[in-house]
Amino acid sequence: MDLSYTAEEEEFRAAARAWLRAHVPPEPLPSLETAEGFAAHRVWEGRLAAGGWSAVSWPERYGGRDADLTRWLLFEEEYYAAGAPGRVSQNGVSLLAPTLFAYGTEEQRARVLPPMATGEVIWAQAWSEPEAGSDLASLTSRAVRTDGGWLLSGQKTWSSRAAFADRAFGIFRSDPGPAAEGRPHRGLTYLMFDLRAPGVTVRPVGRLDGRPAFAELFLDDVFVPDEDVVGEPGQGWRIAMSATGNERGLTLRSPGRFLAAADRLVRLWRERSEASAGVTADSALRDRVADAVIGARAYRLFTAAGAARLAEGADLGAESSLNKVFWSTFDLALHETALDLLGPEGESADSAWAEGYVFALAGPIYAGTNEIQRDIIAERLLGLPKGRR
Ligand SMILES: Cc1cc2nc3c(=O)[nH]c(=O)nc-3n(C[C@H](O)[C@H](O)[C@H](O)COP(=O)(O)OP(=O)(O)OC[C@H]3O[C@@H](n4cnc5c(N)ncnc54)[C@H](O)[C@@H]3O)c2cc1C
Repeated sequence: MDLSYTAEEEEFRAAARAWLRAHVPPEPLPSLETAEGFAAHRVWEGRLAAGGWSAVSWPERYGGRDADLTRWLLFEEEYYAAGAPGRVSQNGVSLLAPTLFAYGTEEQRARVLPPMATGEVIWAQAWSEPEAGSDLASLTSRAVRTDGGWLLSGQKTWSSRAAFADRAFGIFRSDPGPAAEGRPHRGLTYLMFDLRAPGVTVRPVGRLDGRPAFAELFLDDVFVPDEDVVGEPGQGWRIAMSATGNERGLTLRSPGRFLAAADRLVRLWRERSEASAGVTADSALRDRVADAVIGARAYRLFTAAGAARLAEGADLGAESSLNKVFWSTFDLALHETALDLLGPEGESADSAWAEGYVFALAGPIYAGTNEIQRDIIAERLLGLPKGRR
């Protein structure tokens, strides 16, 4: 595949690199799963936005640069190579924003996107429920019609970043009729709501290292005005599913992140092999480091091909499940290799590799589990018969 870029694309890359070199904090920010780290990452989002780099693929009128997918991939490579902070606004920028571009009103885009770009409003995704994860359509949280809007009730769970976020988006059962007739995907409505509205209780949930990376949300007659319904009432499933392609596919996990991590792994291997002849002699470990570099480069080629097909008007559809299974298993293997290189030192909760490992462990689960993705690949891409459910 020819991965040469045009002069304009190289100029774009150089501009991103120069800005990042001048602005990326010299020391890593505290973990964004802490109150202090969340606040620091919010300030960083504001700086990125001031430079025009917080949402490069959006139209300029909302704070973007109208960048196409190729430029966005170049930006991401530069972003991670520069060691820039993780994006606390990821849910908003990569999930809600594309949904608003496809289904929102102009009023919603003008109101919601600029404060999302600056980090002033940070969004959480509120889809999962205690009894509705892989089988999301079985969700039971309700939206009931009231004067000028809707009342939300029920419980959402595993909502990433919701411990410190400002607003959330989710799907709710607005018409129980179709579900009672065995058509649970119908009668759902996509709504945005305020996490500090009366009737919302946010209960933080600690992950393996104790940091509140998620929250449970308890909703008790929470009022949401009509202007915060995305698309038509009853169309929530179709709207939500258009965003899952983004979540599983390249926009959630661009190759830049893995190329940078693989480079860091090679540096770690060099440091460790200088310090210990045992590391140099361990050919299995060396092979795993090489596999990480090969995997990151292969993923780069795969996503470049996907971006080119999208630019030609193709719809990747179920193919985004291939991305999801690949990046999640790859990320975990890469972090396991780093921890094996570090030995007991890697288990310190403050090491970036340890935090990355805890996050990578969840990769095969979030954004739709890998078992479900393999079912999608088998049925929709390979045409194999449906499995027993
Ligand atoms: C780090 C992390 C972040 C998350 N962030 C969010 C968030 O921000 N917002 C949000 O709404 N949700 C979030 N989630 C929830 C996530 O989407 C769900 O955990 C996931 O969809 C699985 O649902 P479940 O946990 O209910 O497991 P279940 O659906 O109960 O699945 C349990 C196991 O059974 C398997 N299984 C289930 N059904 C089938 C089937 N038909 N065929 C084969 N195997 C099957 C699954 O693959 C899994 O291994 C997050 C989860 C994690 C771990």
